[in-house]
Amino acid sequence: MSGSKLKLHIYGDECLRKKSVPVKEVGVAERMLIKAMVETMHEHQGIGLAAPQVGIEKRLFVVDIGDGPFAVINPKVLKKNGSGYLEEGCLSLPGISVNVKRPNKIAVQYTDENNQTVKKELSQLMARVFLHELDHLDGKMIIDYAGLREKLKLRKPLKAMQSQNKAIL
Ligand code: ZN
Repeated sequence: MSGSKLKLHIYGDECLRKKSVPVKEVGVAERMLIKAMVETMHEHQGIGLAAPQVGIEKRLFVVDIGDGPFAVINPKVLKKNGSGYLEEGCLSLPGISVNVKRPNKIAVQYTDENNQTVKKELSQLMARVFLHELDHLDGKMIIDYAGLREKLKLRKPLKAMQSQNKAIL
């Protein structure tokens, strides 16, 4: 049984295009949000979920690539190395995937859910998920990486998603 009641926001919702604000301190409310976000991510079989995707414009996301969930607060990328392409999906863009070029090794700094500063080196999938979720905090989505031909293909499904979203509102 799941207690999470967070609504997953999909493309067309303006909260996905805003720049999120830093978290001052991780308190009870933030920890409850993190817990609910982890549940929501798992429910939707995601490997990452950013606060704007549940309508909250805070610099916070959760990740679980299979070795357990953790929260990332106020993330910063200190160093980037290499690059590679991978087909990425997004819980806020159901049915859509885009080939995204990203660095394959990064050094990052963030605050964890106990208000401790963490410095880490991430590579491969972990680096990719981190950067994908960090993009969400700046209002950026995978469709922004699409090439011209890909963009043309995406026009119809995106328009459908947008009007569907309006109907729900
Ligand atoms: Zn996403």
